[in-house]
Amino acid sequence: MTALARIMSRRIAITGPISLADYMAECLLHPEHGYYTTRDAIGEQGDFTTAPEISQMFGELLGLCLAQAWIDQDSPTPFILAELGPGHGTLMADVLRTTANVPNMHAAMQVTLIEASPKMRALQRQKLQAYNVSWLDGICDLPQLPLFILANEFFDALPIRQFVRDAKGWHETQVGLDKENLTLGLSQSAPITALDHRLEDTKKGDIVEIRAAAEPILSEVSHRIAAHGGCAVIVDYGDWHSRGDTFQAVEKHQIVDPVARPGAADLTAHVDFEALANVAKIAGATASEMIDQGQLLARLGIEARAAALAQNLTGAALETHVAAFERLTCADKMGSLFKAIAIAPTSTKLPPGFDACALN
Ligand code: SAH
Repeated sequence: MTALARIMSRRIAITGPISLADYMAECLLHPEHGYYTTRDAIGEQGDFTTAPEISQMFGELLGLCLAQAWIDQDSPTPFILAELGPGHGTLMADVLRTTANVPNMHAAMQVTLIEASPKMRALQRQKLQAYNVSWLDGICDLPQLPLFILANEFFDALPIRQFVRDAKGWHETQVGLDKENLTLGLSQSAPITALDHRLEDTKKGDIVEIRAAAEPILSEVSHRIAAHGGCAVIVDYGDWHSRGDTFQAVEKHQIVDPVARPGAADLTAHVDFEALANVAKIAGATASEMIDQGQLLARLGIEARAAALAQNLTGAALETHVAAFERLTCADKMGSLFKAIAIAPTSTKLPPGFDACALN
């Protein structure tokens, strides 16, 4: 039993079952035993690998995308270049290296990383030591300036609540106890007005997830973009409209029981891009149409970049490079499992690669 399993069993024995949101928050960010607080989980040696760790091309292309968006908005000075949940700092390192020659951009930017885990901050500090970077716990502490911000596999790590439909309403998935072991179960009926509109397109037995924790963060980002300019590019595992059980635990690249080893496995759930787009719109910004990661990278020029990099490679290095290109772009790999949206002011054009949403 992990230390966190003991802590949560005691808590549940005293105060009763907890929501998946409470469970995820404790597992991922508990100050002593949380998953992100205690370990470096990213990469082939860890539990999961992310796009920036697979190839430098991912960060290079997103960096050029943001640089073009900054130029298209008349190069506002000063501005904030930020990232939510930067992991090893690899994405930001690739963005900064690629944009170094964009005239005036680096002189105008204030690089800020939003990172909750001190362990991750230390890794980011090391990776980005050549740059002047600062860290914040939350988005609200950012100065009111034009904001160009990236988030890759950030929103899927934020806690979700999960509801299962019955004939008339909803029951919430909870973590309770079976003897002293943690177990998943369902609450008594759980009235939830946020799901009133989902009674129309669901039936008995259907599962819907909501990610309340995403709303304040994205709302603040979108308000700033609407008021001061900038854009957000969000890439994640997910789809348009939440449907079905996507709560999952991963340890050493294998899917595992999500309540077996709390604090030792990564917990995620798919991102509902429709919900993110709605938050952006309510805050007065525009959300683009959702696009597959593979298609976005193709539009940003990954084929030409991959071919240029391949020219200097031979043997195993070339094979790794080709495999990385395929992993990022192919429909049966990350190419269509991962999606992206951009958020921009209503008055400016969207960043390159993104189309306006027909529903706006
Ligand atoms: N974007 C990186 C890492 C993804 S893992 C990449 O693509 O490789 C998720 C990251 O978000 C980790 O750095 C984790 O510590 C951070 N994180 C998770 N929850 C957070 C929160 N609530 N606030 C800030 N950072 C958070």
